[in-house]
Amino acid sequence: MTVSEPAPGGANDDFLLVSGRWAVVLDGVSSYPVPDVGCQHNVPWFVNRLGLHLGYGLATSTGSALPDLLAAAIDRTAAEHGSACDLNHPLTPAATVAIVRLAGDQVEWLVLGDATAAWVLADGSTDAATDDRADHLPNAPVIVADVRRYDPDFVAKVRNQPGGFWVAAADATAAYQSLTGSISRQVVQRVGLMSDGVTRLVERYGWGWSDVFDHVDQHGARSLVGAVRKAEAADPDPSRWRGKPHDDATAVIARVAA
Ligand SMILES: [Zn+2]
Repeated sequence: MTVSEPAPGGANDDFLLVSGRWAVVLDGVSSYPVPDVGCQHNVPWFVNRLGLHLGYGLATSTGSALPDLLAAAIDRTAAEHGSACDLNHPLTPAATVAIVRLAGDQVEWLVLGDATAAWVLADGSTDAATDDRADHLPNAPVIVADVRRYDPDFVAKVRNQPGGFWVAAADATAAYQSLTGSISRQVVQRVGLMSDGVTRLVERYGWGWSDVFDHVDQHGARSLVGAVRKAEAADPDPSRWRGKPHDDATAVIARVAA
């Protein structure tokens, strides 16, 4: 089951692609409130290309490791920017990434940036992998501009830099900073990929991962976004959080066949 919906009133910068063997969720990083990042392309331009190049690699290079496929997709997307774009700009368009793939008797996952891979095991237990390095940056200056966010000058210094945090942008080496793992296919019952617009149910609003999977089971994937909007509407002080009060929300929930 899948769902992908924009924040109310906005355009959707999330992306999903699903096959019988793998799934991808990307979340385009919102443009920063700075005049020029050296690129003439917008976030959907970047996210669509990165996602389709990633899908191409997943479909055609079945033996390649997930970070290698992500690196190749970053390189291919970078090539499409053309010479007019300055891809060395630290705030060049970027996305967070979550991938899951069936590979032999394993279920492999990759996350980069604050997208999440989650799973339910046969015994009913749940777990998830999120790359939360951006939440643990020492002395990170938060400003209140359009929304509460890290100072863009600070982000420019720590994004895709050692000791900072990593996203898929124009530098393919970021792919090798992904968090990766695999679980025996025998014990995995369901997997989920989610953008942070969905996982705020867990990170902000007290849901457990089992609540997320149970909700989708009982009410369908679309209802999950309804639950997000309901929780956001009931939040007594949405401005306490870093980031937008509402975000694009995407989830892929898949049953793993034995
Ligand atoms: Zn560009």
